[in-house]
Amino acid sequence: MDYWKSKEQRLEEDRVDEVLELIWMLIEDGEATVENIARKSEDPQVSPLLKDIESFGLISIDHHSGKVAFKETGKGRAEQIIRRHRIAERLLSEVFEVEERQIEDHACELEHTHVLGQVVVDSICTFLGHPPTCPHGKVIPRGECCKKFSLDVKPLVGSLTDLRIGEEAKIVFISSKYHARLDRLSSLGIIPGSVIRLHQKQPTYVIRIGETELALDKDLAKEIFVKKI
Ligand SMILES: [Zn+2]
Ligand SMILES: [Zn+2]
Repeated sequence: MDYWKSKEQRLEEDRVDEVLELIWMLIEDGEATVENIARKSEDPQVSPLLKDIESFGLISIDHHSGKVAFKETGKGRAEQIIRRHRIAERLLSEVFEVEERQIEDHACELEHTHVLGQVVVDSICTFLGHPPTCPHGKVIPRGECCKKFSLDVKPLVGSLTDLRIGEEAKIVFISSKYHARLDRLSSLGIIPGSVIRLHQKQPTYVIRIGETELALDKDLAKEIFVKKI
């Protein structure tokens, strides 16, 4: 539907999107207030824009404390923006191997709806193995694709358990929700960026990392996502 919008409408939408994105990140850090938004926004007209966004019913502002919260539609819209942005970051870092300091600029250009539609975002998400976080470790909101397994796109990133014996791969992310596990894995050098080689699958998974051989049970191996090299 985007072709029917004028350039001005798009620019206006982009400004709203930028502010919604900022609010999302401030909420993650527990500091979404009018003051912080005004301080961190790059929009020269952020105060009137914030009032507009409130009048659109996207956010609510507590005029005593200055706290800003999402309303349902605003939250849904911000979630999509954040998802696009962070998926784009993953794409740039895993596929195009863009350096970390350059990722931010490109991802900002890609996050707007008219560049990456939802279907495209879900395809990229699937292609990347449904990453739980962006390269900076921030949570990527889940999409429809993450709920239902899609076979349309051949993933670039897959579980360590999908490797064949002898294959080498780079660890891209670890999906474990258990911090104790993550700590244990990182103490063994199993962190994003490490290169591993699969030596054995039965009765346990054995990988080589640097000069070390490590045995992992299947549950653990399934949570390690890798890209073949
Ligand atoms: Zn990020
Ligand atoms: Zn997904």
